[in-house]
Amino acid sequence: MEKIEILKEKLNKNAVVTEIAKEKSPFKVLISTILSARTKDEVTEEVSKRLFEKVKNVDDLLKIDLEELEKLIYPVGFYRMKAKNLKKLAKILKENYNGKVPNELDELLKLPGVGRKTANLVITLAFDDYGICVDTHVHRICNRWGYVETENPEETEMELRKKLPKKYWKIINNLLVVFGREICSPTPKCEECFEEIRERCPYYKKIAYFDEILKKYEFEKVSKNNIPAEKGTYILKIKLNRGRKIKFGNKERFFRKGYYFYVGSALGKSMNLKNRIGRHLKKEKKKFWHIDYLLEFGDVKGIYISNKGCECEVAKDLAEVFKCVEGFGCSDCKCESHLFYMPL
Ligand code: SF4
Repeated sequence: MEKIEILKEKLNKNAVVTEIAKEKSPFKVLISTILSARTKDEVTEEVSKRLFEKVKNVDDLLKIDLEELEKLIYPVGFYRMKAKNLKKLAKILKENYNGKVPNELDELLKLPGVGRKTANLVITLAFDDYGICVDTHVHRICNRWGYVETENPEETEMELRKKLPKKYWKIINNLLVVFGREICSPTPKCEECFEEIRERCPYYKKIAYFDEILKKYEFEKVSKNNIPAEKGTYILKIKLNRGRKIKFGNKERFFRKGYYFYVGSALGKSMNLKNRIGRHLKKEKKKFWHIDYLLEFGDVKGIYISNKGCECEVAKDLAEVFKCVEGFGCSDCKCESHLFYMPL
């Protein structure tokens, strides 16, 4: 977790809820965390400020009527549902917890609108206790860094509980939320990243290596409408948005969400690049190649072609850095595979 240490030193900004937590009010931490789900930081900040001027504690939340509450928290994501949940929450806190926010994960999880992410954040920020709040940023970045290999935030939390040193539990969320919003976003801004992190980042190394391979074999990126009817080698960059089991041929395996790079070649007269790639891309198609089964669920995000007959050389080079997905070699080669994986 060297990279976390670097972020600790370099980032000088807090996520909104971390700032709100400085007021030492578990009630405000809980409510603002609920509001922050599916909501931009700026909106959470503005809405929390407006709400806490009128609603300072559980009694205020009990008294305020639903319509006014909806207006106050608009435009946070799912504001109508959140307003309803907040009213229910106030009633439960009053009746079962003496108007106080409980300080145990299991109790917090019983509250309406409170999932593991919220409960963990309340534990760490409001009660300064050990929890690991894993949201989409923590989940994505920990996978990009190869620290975990997981499909969803819950799995990531469980893995981090096993391997993350305790001294990082309370701070990882704040650091990665800020970093994930500003730099390591879903489409990462690697050129704006801290150099010390970039040079330690496996994701960045893979992207840079892929560019080297494109240069080495003189690949050029083409659009699907502009594929030449020539012989050559191609790489398809495929994005799978959700992990799923996929049958290919007579096999079946789980494909994690992420990017897949497939290397193929079209060296026949009629089976040229245009026809071969065109067949892969057709929605309604007979499945000729194993890759066609993956293409049924994945989106092609890049087509790269080279006029060299270099399919197996490219595959061997990619295998140096990327994870091979077995079962995707070509019929007459000895390569481990021609399909390679990288997390999103
Ligand atoms: S180099 Fe890119 S992928 Fe790696 S941490 Fe920085 S922004 Fe994220």
